[in-house]
Amino acid sequence: MFDELGRVVVGAGELIFNVGDAGDCAYLIESGRIEIFVRTAEGERTLSRMGKGDLFGEVALIDCQPRTAAVRAEEQTVLIPISRKLVNALLEKSDPILRHLLMTVLERFRSTRAESLAPAASSAASNQLRGEATQKLALAHSITRALEHNEFEMYYQPICSLSGGEVVGFEALIRWNHPTDGFVSPMDFLWLAEQTGQICELGLWTLARACNDWPELRTLTRCATPFVSVNLSPSQLVSEQLLDDVNGILLRYGMPPQELKLELTETVMVERPELAQKILERLTGLGSSLALDDYGTGHSGLEHLQRYPVATLKIDRAFIAPMLTDAHSATIVRSSIELAHTLGMSVVAEGIEDAEVSVGLQALGCDFGQGWYFGKPASKRALLLPAALDTRPR
Ligand code: C2E
Ligand code: CA
Ligand code: CA
Repeated sequence: MFDELGRVVVGAGELIFNVGDAGDCAYLIESGRIEIFVRTAEGERTLSRMGKGDLFGEVALIDCQPRTAAVRAEEQTVLIPISRKLVNALLEKSDPILRHLLMTVLERFRSTRAESLAPAASSAASNQLRGEATQKLALAHSITRALEHNEFEMYYQPICSLSGGEVVGFEALIRWNHPTDGFVSPMDFLWLAEQTGQICELGLWTLARACNDWPELRTLTRCATPFVSVNLSPSQLVSEQLLDDVNGILLRYGMPPQELKLELTETVMVERPELAQKILERLTGLGSSLALDDYGTGHSGLEHLQRYPVATLKIDRAFIAPMLTDAHSATIVRSSIELAHTLGMSVVAEGIEDAEVSVGLQALGCDFGQGWYFGKPASKRALLLPAALDTRPR
């Protein structure tokens, strides 16, 4: 039925697709006529007829649901198929919020039509999809509003030397003080900000805030090479624009580049290795350093450690917390420290909650520690209160 140009040629009376078929393709009518119909208890009911230049089958194509009506050619008809692959590629390039909006509108259209055709066909799955899209839209809207209304705040958690206990730097962690929901954990909104692309604006906001706060925070450490660590999301590392943005912020706040550390996970190195390498090398070229976050939880390929200009390895909390009771975790921690040192990197252990773990890590030669044992994340104001950090255990 395909001609040499990939068109579909359908004879008079032939079905093009049936109810329940996978909706993997829309069609543009090059010539001929088609009829869209459903079968009811009373017989066939025509929904519409289309001719040259019309498009049909597009709803199933976009929302990935099975066809809800059948289509047949009324005369010999030539169709140009438009594949889901093509539409997905176009959708991926579209604005994420627009994409959510489109999905919501399509879902509504589809369920209204399903109810009018056969009330029982309005499925729970369809309602759930619609609900999810609406919730995402509402949350995405709240994130934009939160940026405008200064609802975000940066907290800082000390990173300490394991041998001397003194503060060497801080990790900047975002907090959302929602006007009605109260405190919202970063884990509950960053995933959507990643999907919608809002993370780029949010990421620059966190960097600017950390650079702005740094002169005061810096007074809390007596280390010769103090630093503030800022998390970078994988979606921020997809464009070289990031370099100009980071450089602009460093200049605006008079931030010494060598006192800024950027934390990233291996995701970005796996998904876009070449681009990531280029951007990361230029970021370190500005004078800042890189820390590989959550080490051990992701892909942890040795080649990442060699290929990218990483100065610090942060071993994930998942291995630190159980390292005194679980031999497997202890082995991962020990070998990660050895590997990092062999490659000339320093090591931060994350999630240290008690003295025993801190002592155990020190015995393994780990350089720095971060965790509730040394101090929970706190606002700059709280940290600057007299003696806020002096309650730290030694
Ligand atoms: P992360 O980068 O691994 O940050 C460390 C997380 O561990 C923080 O959670 C911190 O509060 C928590 N933590 C620190 N010490 C301990 C401990 O001793 N015990 C336990 N149980 N937890 C500890 P938080 O602040 O909820 O952040 C969660 C994640 O959200 C972060 O994980 C990071 O991936 C992301 N995140 C937070 N702030 C930002 C940000 O400004 N930008 C970006 N891109 N991501 C951020
Ligand atoms: Ca981090
Ligand atoms: Ca981490």
